[in-house]
Amino acid sequence: MNEPLFGRLAIVGPGLIGGSIALAARRTNVVGEIAITTRRQATLDAARARGLGDTYTTDPAEAARGADCVILCVPVGACGAVTETIAPVLKPGAIVSDVGSVKASVIAQVKPSLPGGVHFVPAHPVAGTEESGPDAGFAELFEGRWCILTPEDGTDPEAVALMNEFWQCLGSNVEIMDAAHHDLVLAITSHVPHLIAYNIVGTADDLEAVTRSEVLKFSAGGFRDFTRIAASDPTMWRDVFLNNREAVLEMLGRFSEDLTALQRAIRWGDGDALYTLFERTRAIRRGVIEAGQETAAADFGRRPRDEADE
Ligand code: NAP
Repeated sequence: MNEPLFGRLAIVGPGLIGGSIALAARRTNVVGEIAITTRRQATLDAARARGLGDTYTTDPAEAARGADCVILCVPVGACGAVTETIAPVLKPGAIVSDVGSVKASVIAQVKPSLPGGVHFVPAHPVAGTEESGPDAGFAELFEGRWCILTPEDGTDPEAVALMNEFWQCLGSNVEIMDAAHHDLVLAITSHVPHLIAYNIVGTADDLEAVTRSEVLKFSAGGFRDFTRIAASDPTMWRDVFLNNREAVLEMLGRFSEDLTALQRAIRWGDGDALYTLFERTRAIRRGVIEAGQETAAADFGRRPRDEADE
């Protein structure tokens, strides 16, 4: 049983990530009281029905008042507006953090309205699913996953250490990184892959020579796995691309060049070029499994029973 790191934790946005933090924090006893706040009454009711917190309100300032730590778990484009609302009630010494998938933009939005004496420790748990809302959260979401902290130079080391310990108590491995570097790394490991999935599913849906029933029927040929990613929350992902524009465009440029090279190899029947690349990428997959970030089970870890359920 852990000693509480924070007497009062406020979660703004009890969706997949906020809800999972609340459940994991409760289970591991790292916080005393949990205050839940969200915009819509329906989301608040769902959070209450799941027992995510101790108090519930649609007023973010009411939840943040007296909190030792406030974690913004809203889409990255909404972080600035939420911070403006809670800033006047934040107590000196409080820590404000977030979980946004983009870091430099969130820092630019949040920092200007924070009062002196309040510490800002941006965070990104690299864990999630394609589900959203309070019902999607679960306490084990962060176990064995990375959480990246991107504090700016000069941030209070004690506040950074506390957030580091908080995420470790939730089961994460923690890495500290510069925000701009985070945004570049995540552009290639997460943002561009999501864009590719959205694009390929959209293209298949637009095809006239192939019927939609054929796309669904033969989806196990690879398409199915893109549909899972392309089912991710539209608001969250719209905000990711609008807020990590430079890094995504840079990585997309590289991607397009490499795709053109593959196109050329296919056109000219250059089997060696194709084979060499596919061999290299297979080794990357083994590396992901060895790093504990994926199961080695065949077919993306799906069990035969899951197949039958589909
Ligand atoms: P989610 O399940 O859709 O929950 C979003 C929460 O934010 C809801 O409580 C929602 O409240 C609230 N919200 C939405 N728009 C808002 C606005 N304009 N102003 C104030 N509140 C708003 O989302 P999520 O997947 O947990 O994602 C939350 C954050 O985590 C995002 O910044 C995302 O980048 C980051 N993240 C997500 C994942 C993932 O895999 N999903 C992984 C890592 C990090 P209402 O329903 O009341 O509007």
